Amino acid sequence: MTERVQPPKEVPTKILTSTTRAPSLIIVNTGNGKGKSTAAFGMVMRAVARGWKVGVIQFIKSGKWQVGEEKVCRDLGVSWMKGGDGFTWESDDIDRTREIAVASWALARASIEGGAFDVIVLDELTYLMTWGWIDTGEVVTCLRARPQHVTVIVTGRDAPQAVIDVADTVTEMRNIRHAFDQGVRARRGIDF
Ligand code: ATP
Ligand code: MG
Repeated sequence: MTERVQPPKEVPTKILTSTTRAPSLIIVNTGNGKGKSTAAFGMVMRAVARGWKVGVIQFIKSGKWQVGEEKVCRDLGVSWMKGGDGFTWESDDIDRTREIAVASWALARASIEGGAFDVIVLDELTYLMTWGWIDTGEVVTCLRARPQHVTVIVTGRDAPQAVIDVADTVTEMRNIRHAFDQGVRARRGIDF
């Protein structure tokens, strides 16, 4: 007897028959689990592979903490941009951190508006909005008004609803377990 294979019930009956080609996207990686920044840099790799111009701004990292992604991105010809006077603050100097973060947003905004990049990564941008350092409305307006070819990738926990609303693709990394919880410190080559 021949068995007829039945599709599982949860298979959607309505199949998309046409797709549109968006000139660019707003992508948000948020949530408490690991992977928000690494997924953003995965996309950077893809964009570089296509010969696109890519820019990255990291908002909350100290210059002292040399992240591996910076080295690789620079080697790949990605513009690694820094606001303020080049990220040389001590992490306990909150006023300085804030000042540089706000300057970095100004740079990010100008980079989006300028249209020189096909992809711009705004790594850890969400915290600036959560802490009230920059205006969420201003970020949303900038994202909406961007040149149509500019894809923007935003990462960070607790993305504001208004940013989620303007995004095309939103992923929440859910933390099931993190080595950090067992007392394992951030690891070179894995976490930075
Ligand atoms: P990654 O850069 O590894 O993709 P992420 O961008 O998703 O992490 P962040 O909050 O930016 O998350 O992470 C900052 C640092 O904290 C990184 O070293 C990351 O590996 C680590 N981390 C990420 N998620 C967790 C977690 N749930 N608990 C503890 N540490 C975490
Ligand atoms: Mg991150």
